[in-house]
Amino acid sequence: MRIAFKPNKTGIAILTIMLVIVGYIIFKRRKQIKQMASKTIEFIQNKTWDIITDRRLASLHPQIRKRANEFILRAEKELGIKLRVTSALRTWKEQEKLYAKGRTTKGNVVTNAKPGKSLHNYGLALDVVEIKNGKALWTNPNWSKIAALGKSLGFSWGGDWKSFKDKPHFEMRFGKTLSDLQALYTSGNREGEYVNLA
Ligand SMILES: [Zn+2]
Repeated sequence: MRIAFKPNKTGIAILTIMLVIVGYIIFKRRKQIKQMASKTIEFIQNKTWDIITDRRLASLHPQIRKRANEFILRAEKELGIKLRVTSALRTWKEQEKLYAKGRTTKGNVVTNAKPGKSLHNYGLALDVVEIKNGKALWTNPNWSKIAALGKSLGFSWGGDWKSFKDKPHFEMRFGKTLSDLQALYTSGNREGEYVNLA
């Protein structure tokens, strides 16, 4: 069977007008289209091996999110280590609940930090662990390599702490003390859970 296509003048005119309109819309919106495309590319490029990690990274303070993302990507690419973020932002409310455990609510005491006393409460800290064959390697000869990479990106490492060595923990405090951060938070100098660091 042969499908005959007979162009007629009206049809061509309508098609031309439609193409011109579509072209005009694309031209008018070219900036938005470009932005959308580059955001999509960025999103794809920043995706880590692990969806749980991606979700937790997104909860971090905007000023450390990129570098934390780079940390996970480079650990895999350069060290062949798959890191999972096990904890990122812990809101004041969540910290309050955690602190109540074993004190005013059931269970064992799990933390000594009251709300605002941990960099996690500001989204300025993340805990990581290597995942190998589906298992989390909390005791790991690779900690020093992981720490070196994290530190090269500007993070402080909990494994360097004198009193209690917290190897999974990396944080960035932008020269602020906990009481500085607490003051910013309680005075409302913040966007949601994220204090204004500038
Ligand atoms: Zn931590």
